[in-house]
Amino acid sequence: MKNIYLDHAATCPTDPEVVNAMLPYFTENYGNPSSIYSISRTTRNAIEDAREILAKAIGASSGEIVFTSGGSESDNFAIKGVAHALREKGRHIITSQIEHHAVLYTCKFLEKNGYDVSYLPVDSAGIVKMDELEKAIRRDTILITIMHANNEIGSIQPVREIAEIAKKHKIAFHTDAVQTFGHIPVNVNELNVDLLSISGHKFHGPKGVGALYIRKGTKITPLIHGGDQERRRRASTENVPGIVGLGQAVEIAPGIMSDEMKRQAQLRDTFIGKILNTIPDSRLNGHATQRLPNNINISFKGIEGESILLNLDMFGIAASTGSACSSSSLEPSHVLLAIGLDHELAHGSVRFSLGKHTTLEELDRVAEILPGIIKKLRAMSPLYNQ
Ligand SMILES: *Cc1c(COP(=O)(O)O)cnc(C)c1O
Repeated sequence: MKNIYLDHAATCPTDPEVVNAMLPYFTENYGNPSSIYSISRTTRNAIEDAREILAKAIGASSGEIVFTSGGSESDNFAIKGVAHALREKGRHIITSQIEHHAVLYTCKFLEKNGYDVSYLPVDSAGIVKMDELEKAIRRDTILITIMHANNEIGSIQPVREIAEIAKKHKIAFHTDAVQTFGHIPVNVNELNVDLLSISGHKFHGPKGVGALYIRKGTKITPLIHGGDQERRRRASTENVPGIVGLGQAVEIAPGIMSDEMKRQAQLRDTFIGKILNTIPDSRLNGHATQRLPNNINISFKGIEGESILLNLDMFGIAASTGSACSSSSLEPSHVLLAIGLDHELAHGSVRFSLGKHTTLEELDRVAEILPGIIKKLRAMSPLYNQ
């Protein structure tokens, strides 16, 4: 039985081309990029090449890119870094109720340390309410951080309009683009953001490496102090193989993007149609069209998402209940609660996230197997009696 992997929003397999590009930087090209002898020049150049590639891909200049250990660090750096740098100006931050925990828990941490945070509500499709944003702005607001697209329900936020409001009030604006970069177009000038987080393993790059885009002139304090790496914005000897791999993943991603976007969106909509048609009491979560091309999130009334996952796993199908980070807790997803689902329905939700290797045959097989699983689980469920 061939495994079917539908959890690309949690992580993607590293592309073989990416692995090949990385390998020499574990072995022959081992020089510390900060050293002055000639073998270090190779690693230094490799880092700068990757920086150029990423900068070009998002419309930035290379001096505006800082490599990090991944999406979580980029989010922490952006939020804590701006909060600290602007602490004399103000201590109010605006975010949304549906952010990734890397943003949400960073904001909670700041709340315990003298900052005020406003958590904006979203509508039933998971889109931030713009009138609430205007209302939340105060004289001491220093940062707005709202994600580009949500990792659980795929809703794409109106980042450009949010940026316009942020600019009007001269407030720094950060967006977590971990789910969008490499999947849909991401350009820092079109989006008009000051800070933007990306992560390698969410677009077929390596795990443990990411980047933060910091617009020139943005005031930010480093998160990691020590050596002079990354123009003194992030200490620590560079993850050279990781950075090289990230650069290679960026080079492959935009090439496949526009066709691949359309292909995945088609697969997505076909699958959603089939499931909603064949399984009663099922509903799509998130926006119907303003949505990541690879995201499907469906609630099934009267049963537990975890039981569905375990049953799918018996058929070699890997999916998720939403966020890998909350899978060990019994709390329902904060995202599904924010879009208005009750606890029971939120618990009965499954996310299928597609990748560039996902085929129509794979999705058809899942669509064939799933109705039987749901029927079986509902027959045993005291919650479901219809
Ligand atoms: C995965 C993810 C992160 C965390 O990225 P890591 O590289 O795993 O630290 C942050 N934000 C979003 C939206 C994500 O999907």
